[in-house]
Amino acid sequence: MNILVTGGSGFIGSNLCRRLLDEGHYVLCLDNNYTGRMENIQELLTNDHFSFILADVCDSLKDRPELKTQALHLDQIYNLACPASPPAYQGLHAIETTKTCVLGAINVLELALAHGATVLQASTSEVYGDPLVHPQHEGYRGNVNPNGIRACYDEGKRCAESLFFDYARHLGAKIKVIRIFNTYGPFMDPKDGRVVSNFICQALRGEDLTVYGQGEQTRSFCFVDDLIAGMVAMMNSDPEFLGPVNLGNPQEFTIAQLAQQVLEMIPSGAKLVFKDLPQDDPRCRKPDISLAKSKLGWQPHIKLTEGLQRSIPYFAQRLRDDGVQLKAVF
Ligand code: UDP
Repeated sequence: MNILVTGGSGFIGSNLCRRLLDEGHYVLCLDNNYTGRMENIQELLTNDHFSFILADVCDSLKDRPELKTQALHLDQIYNLACPASPPAYQGLHAIETTKTCVLGAINVLELALAHGATVLQASTSEVYGDPLVHPQHEGYRGNVNPNGIRACYDEGKRCAESLFFDYARHLGAKIKVIRIFNTYGPFMDPKDGRVVSNFICQALRGEDLTVYGQGEQTRSFCFVDDLIAGMVAMMNSDPEFLGPVNLGNPQEFTIAQLAQQVLEMIPSGAKLVFKDLPQDDPRCRKPDISLAKSKLGWQPHIKLTEGLQRSIPYFAQRLRDDGVQLKAVF
């Protein structure tokens, strides 16, 4: 198949491009490289089945020469383009984040309609906000602050879901919607400010681990290979099943437990240091994955310790590439 991955040079996107190439597909990777990085797809650039388009999903896609129906037939589109780390979307680029969610959804949906392609939207557990129902099932409508510092992402992704379902209802678009919970693994940006990358890199540098608040808030961490398997299963599932479907690992940890786990695995003499909890930081998060299990036959297999073991050497290499002297050997 010909498959377009928007956000393809980002963390999840670059892992997905590799998986799709391994399956023998032709992959078009589109990114504006705001949070994506060419290093993530470097060795793919010489693959005949792979091409890269530097573009922004906020601009019309269906009129681009490389994406016109006369140039090729797209079978599937994964829409992953969006900054996803809180420091990335809460900063100066908050407005661009909402635009990317909303205009990006419209542009990929128009492109999908032109090609008759199935389009999968990467939605997020953030649509549940600071949840009052635990664990979160797909029927829960969430508890989102509509104008707080996370709203550009949360409300942007909620609006994108709304656009996807209206394009399906009114225009016959072939859609799939997944809600991704916290994911980690190789090709994450060490500097993107998320908790797993921060803790691993801080421990490798021998710096104290920055726990926000008392570290009592919880998250459920999914290794990226498990997530990708779920995404591909959803894309290729019964066309009648549109979602939304939660994809994540239901093993729940407090942030303090995650920090202890990282310190055990990276013995560098680092300690915990407590910092202010950011505004609107969700107190808990854990996916109910019954729907994914029953509809997709999917569930994650990689436990946190194994996933961290598989991630630490990647972060160590990235730090060494930047000339950082590591306090622990990997
Ligand atoms: N966090 C932390 N220390 C860090 C980075 C994040 O304690 O250096 C906390 C953050 O406040 C949140 C959790 O870890 O409660 C997960 O944060 P992340 O940015 O990875 O993702 P989120 O689930 O908030 O989108």
